[in-house]
Amino acid sequence: MRHIKRLPAPQILVEKQEEWTQKFLLSNNPRPDSSKYAHREIREALNAMSMHKCFYCERKLKGITQEVDHYVEVAEAREKAFAWENLYLACSDCNRKLSNRSIPNSETLDPCMHPDEEIMQHITFEDEMVLSLNGSDKGLQTIKKYKLDSQQLDYLRLKQRQYFTDLLLRIKDNQIKENRKHLIPAELFALNRFRQAENPFSLMFKVLLSKHLPR
Ligand SMILES: [Zn+2]
Repeated sequence: MRHIKRLPAPQILVEKQEEWTQKFLLSNNPRPDSSKYAHREIREALNAMSMHKCFYCERKLKGITQEVDHYVEVAEAREKAFAWENLYLACSDCNRKLSNRSIPNSETLDPCMHPDEEIMQHITFEDEMVLSLNGSDKGLQTIKKYKLDSQQLDYLRLKQRQYFTDLLLRIKDNQIKENRKHLIPAELFALNRFRQAENPFSLMFKVLLSKHLPR
């Protein structure tokens, strides 16, 4: 999970949100129409915000099912079914999160509200394993709600860490060959790329690199 800055609402919502909401509130449908709340323009705007990653687990969504998620569930707040601030982008795994009744949003981190510094006060990484920092309840509940410690996510984070380790090895190789201890700008740039928001699991690298390579 990494902080996501919300962009302005897409045009389709500016024009239709009120009409869609009123119709839905007057209907008996338990669920809003996904062709509306997950309209192409809305998905594109959410993708632009998260740089094509799941808001919760930070996996890249290219080639996998992406879903528009209601942060506050529709069953809890029907009036938020088409509210821009309530629409998040999730992979199908994270969208099967534990419901608000079992773990309310107030007990978890919110990628659209909490800055990275705050997220990092609750969530940390040991190798590719996600952990709550100093037993933080908020960290623990966030990991539990979105199942951030699933076997599949461990595997995907391990793979990304492998690219990082390969790069580190190449850098060490060059340092030995060239008999130097410092990093040259190109190496710093390559290492820093891992913690940039467009890359998968960038918070893990932000945590990892902050220990070795302070900005
Ligand atoms: Zn996810």
